[in-house]
Amino acid sequence: MSLAEITRRIREAEAAHGRAPGSVNLIAVSKVQPLERVVAVLAEGHRLFGENYVQETQAKWPDLRARFSGVSVHMIGPLQTNKAKLAVELFDAIHSVDRPSLAEKLARLAQDRGRCPELFVQVNTGEEPQKAGVLPADLDAFLAAARAMDLPVRGLMCIPPEAEDATPHFAALGAMATRNGLAGLSMGMSSDFEAAIAHGATHVRVGSAIFGARSYA
Ligand SMILES: *Cc1c(COP(=O)(O)O)cnc(C)c1O
Repeated sequence: MSLAEITRRIREAEAAHGRAPGSVNLIAVSKVQPLERVVAVLAEGHRLFGENYVQETQAKWPDLRARFSGVSVHMIGPLQTNKAKLAVELFDAIHSVDRPSLAEKLARLAQDRGRCPELFVQVNTGEEPQKAGVLPADLDAFLAAARAMDLPVRGLMCIPPEAEDATPHFAALGAMATRNGLAGLSMGMSSDFEAAIAHGATHVRVGSAIFGARSYA
């Protein structure tokens, strides 16, 4: 597949589900991809990317930002508290705010810097023990605490359990966002972004369908 093909499918899904044209942001997930593939997508005019690792982002994106204007890079992977300081310098948004200690650290950094990336709170909709994210039952209290810290929470993010139909998870995340007055919904990947758009996704995170399979070798 290709960037043009994915963009076309997003626009079709918007139209099919009564979503405003252009209301869904495509985050091209470039983690672990060879640099030439990332440069090719930049050269096609795309400017919004997702990364999972702070160190990889530090090695890659300052150079690319110098070569291409208007780039946004969003952190979509788990964020260690000791990398938060670097992360707020490198990223325009963080989709993986998943625990009180990280929220407190981000609030302190925001105070010191006078600005903060846009934040999404990751919700563990499948309540999987090994997965990051705030449990649904804890979400409202977590958001209230984040608001009390003046954190710029724009939305919610989820990664549904791999072996399940993602649709109920997308619907549940949408309901949680509506209940809390949050406009942003980061959900949907290569295999299910159209279903996520049907349920209100504002940010889909698509990697392999744009860049090809990842090789971790
Ligand atoms: C890697 C990753 C993606 C992209 O996955 P694809 O299946 O390649 O589209 C999306 N979201 C998160 C959180 C990821 O880690």
